[in-house]
Amino acid sequence: MTTVFAPGRVNLIGEHTDYTGGLVLPMALELGITFSGRADPERLHVVSDGHDDLDVALPLPDRTSAIAAIEPSWGRYLVAVARRLGVSPGIDGKISSTLPAGGTGLSSSTALTCAALLLLGGTGPPLELAKLARQAEIDATGVQIGLMDQAACLASRRDHALLMDCEAVTVSHVAVPESIEVLVVHSGQSRRLADSAYNDRQAACAAVEERIGPLRRATMADVDRLDDPNLRKRARHVVTENDRVMAMVEALGADDPETAGAILTAGHASLADDYEVSTPIVDRMVAALAATDGVYGARMTGGGFGGSLVALCRPGTEPPVDTWWTRARPGAGARIIEA
Ligand code: ADP
Ligand code: MG
Repeated sequence: MTTVFAPGRVNLIGEHTDYTGGLVLPMALELGITFSGRADPERLHVVSDGHDDLDVALPLPDRTSAIAAIEPSWGRYLVAVARRLGVSPGIDGKISSTLPAGGTGLSSSTALTCAALLLLGGTGPPLELAKLARQAEIDATGVQIGLMDQAACLASRRDHALLMDCEAVTVSHVAVPESIEVLVVHSGQSRRLADSAYNDRQAACAAVEERIGPLRRATMADVDRLDDPNLRKRARHVVTENDRVMAMVEALGADDPETAGAILTAGHASLADDYEVSTPIVDRMVAALAATDGVYGARMTGGGFGGSLVALCRPGTEPPVDTWWTRARPGAGARIIEA
């Protein structure tokens, strides 16, 4: 029997920057998915609390469409990982999760994919594994995602956020000082419109880049040259957000919680006003959090339209919310717990 653990993640800053080769700063959580199992040549049989049992006879047909035919659909992540690894998906196993169920945007799908990857024997440098996990997740869902979630899940280090350059595809570890506690708070809204808005914002960024070149190297002077006011707002978010990631790295290095918090709150204003991916409920929650004694700053995190918020606060601060929330320290990346 092998047991592995793969964490969920929260993005501290660097939202909607990944698809234009920008900077992101996620951290792994201590919450995640534990997957225990042993090889089974005849079946893929896995149970997971709160989910329908997976029980599929092997071997599967060789076609790509065999993945989309798997029910319950969460089994697709497992089969997709096995295909990418070139191994049989045969497992007799059990999954348990400490991530909250349903639409909180803490990357449970990536935790599941990366747990399966380790359980099925995936080895190699974390970023190479992350690329494989990303491909598997795309195979399983048909949705073109970036590499941030898989990198955060596999390459994170305890007590550190993960600075990722999405253009160079490199990562480095940024210590999060003890003076800062991270709060992750669910908005109570599941991310309904996120996929369509995501496509729309990607198209807007592509239109911007046709006019002023790569957003990663654009300046505010370039942004001001755009005559379409809508594109100008989208571009301004991306350019200022990349700057906020670097400012956050500096603030964490200087053990400066006030500045770090102010960067989060400014990031939220940019997402709400310029990128227009927030909601009135999320805006009210961010304002209430930011006004709470001990909270240095707060913002929405993830693609938007609901999901979760992240706040930086003095350790021990209670958020004024009645939705699910947790305190979080940056956790380590996915690992084998028992071989
Ligand atoms: P998230 O932001 O949490 O990744 P997604 O919609 O991308 O949200 O992924 C959620 C999907 O991941 C679920 O619908 C399910 O298919 C799978 N999943 C997550 N957690 C589990 C679990 N504990 N057991 C089985 N499947 C899970
Ligand atoms: Mg997901």
